[in-house]
Amino acid sequence: MDTHGLLMVFTGNGKGKTTAALGMAMRSAGHGLGVCIIQFIKGSWSYGELKAVKRFSDNIDFRVMGRGFTWKSDNLEEDKRLALEGWTLARECIDSGKYHLVILDEFTYLLHYKMLDLDVCLDVFSNRSPSQHVLVTGRYAPDALVELADLVTEMQVVKHPLQKGIKAQRGIEF
Ligand code: ATP
Ligand code: MG
Repeated sequence: MDTHGLLMVFTGNGKGKTTAALGMAMRSAGHGLGVCIIQFIKGSWSYGELKAVKRFSDNIDFRVMGRGFTWKSDNLEEDKRLALEGWTLARECIDSGKYHLVILDEFTYLLHYKMLDLDVCLDVFSNRSPSQHVLVTGRYAPDALVELADLVTEMQVVKHPLQKGIKAQRGIEF
């Protein structure tokens, strides 16, 4: 079957973006297809999903961008350097043709906070191999990314347990 590579975006303020991306990784891995997941905010994944992904290490590569990148740094130049380092890795994965699906988890923040040049990123997405699937997650997806993408889902908050003061639950939140 011919593969039509899709540019996909899961955005919005509601819960479910990263878990949906993980579901798609599972689906690809189930077919024996290679997936690379790059986590753009260190520590945004819990041990629950990290352990689960490790079990699929034949098919899923998991990489974390930049050492110690947490958005809490007050060193903007260092943040930008790490963002660029992470982006270089993402670009290598996309250009390598090694993976059926490349997932850039929480990548939208780098664009939203202008850590990276949006046009450069969109160029790389546009010029990728026609069979390369790329999935970007995170809140505040820039309009131009939404415009370019083939599939965009916006998670909308209807209710979240935190609004009632219910704390994060194991296996649901982490
Ligand atoms: P998940 O990882 O559960 O799929 P997500 O990727 O859609 O969530 P993020 O925006 O990356 O959500 O936020 C990460 C964390 O914040 C998750 O633990 C998630 O449960 C929590 N969260 C997401 N949306 C909300 C919300 N509307 N109110 C409170 N907490 C939220
Ligand atoms: Mg997320």
